[in-house]
Amino acid sequence: MGKDKPHLFYHEKREVGGNSIRILLVEDERDISEVVYLYLVNNGYHTDVAENGKKALELFESRDYDLVILDLMLPDIPGEEIAEKIRMMSDVPIIMLTAKVDEEDIVKGLRIGADDYITKPFSMKVLLARIDAVLRRRKGARNADLLNLGDVKVDFSSGILECEGKKVRLTSMELKLLSVLTSTPGKVWKRSELLRKVWEIEDVDSIKTRVLDVTVKNLRKKFRELTEKYEFIHTDFGVGYHFETKEVEKSEGNRKKHRRSEG
Ligand code: CA
Repeated sequence: MGKDKPHLFYHEKREVGGNSIRILLVEDERDISEVVYLYLVNNGYHTDVAENGKKALELFESRDYDLVILDLMLPDIPGEEIAEKIRMMSDVPIIMLTAKVDEEDIVKGLRIGADDYITKPFSMKVLLARIDAVLRRRKGARNADLLNLGDVKVDFSSGILECEGKKVRLTSMELKLLSVLTSTPGKVWKRSELLRKVWEIEDVDSIKTRVLDVTVKNLRKKFRELTEKYEFIHTDFGVGYHFETKEVEKSEGNRKKHRRSEG
């Protein structure tokens, strides 16, 4: 790689407007992956790039993605096979990126479970519009009663959190708070907004209440009873809280908790 070429860090994170969408881009052609990567990152998406199928599956198994953009012609594993493997693990939206204009290939890809496809060459604007459309559809589906957060399933109708057979029941207020927080992952909610939406407390200034903090504390505790792999509710000091399914990183035995610099 040339000196003057920006090195692509495949796990680069970027916070833009609280967007916490993470995309896995699977593409072996550097010319394309670099352009798409930069475009996505500049539009606020966390983006990881896999240059082959093996790497794609490794990355996919190692973290949560909101969307996969999958080139079908890869050097090692055919894209269709990757789509099938991903489908066995997850219902994440998949957009196929393909030079194949053969209708049969496209039909096959869609049958495997891709949500959309784009034929090369394509414009970045078209790609972004398709991404938005696919994510919008998924968000609609999310409003249903079931929500998957990492390994944790939330059943909003019964108020039960479940992870690997373990279950905990939420109180109605915990459930309501969780529902508001998860409605827009990554969004920083002000304390006053949450108190108003969940407890219908309008006059936040005059009513000094700890109800929000206590409920957050209890929710966190319940999540931790199920799994310590993730942290879900994050404190934005002096502002409020936001929701993001974040894997707890372990380095040299030290758990890096509450990394404020990312907030
Ligand atoms: Ca290719």
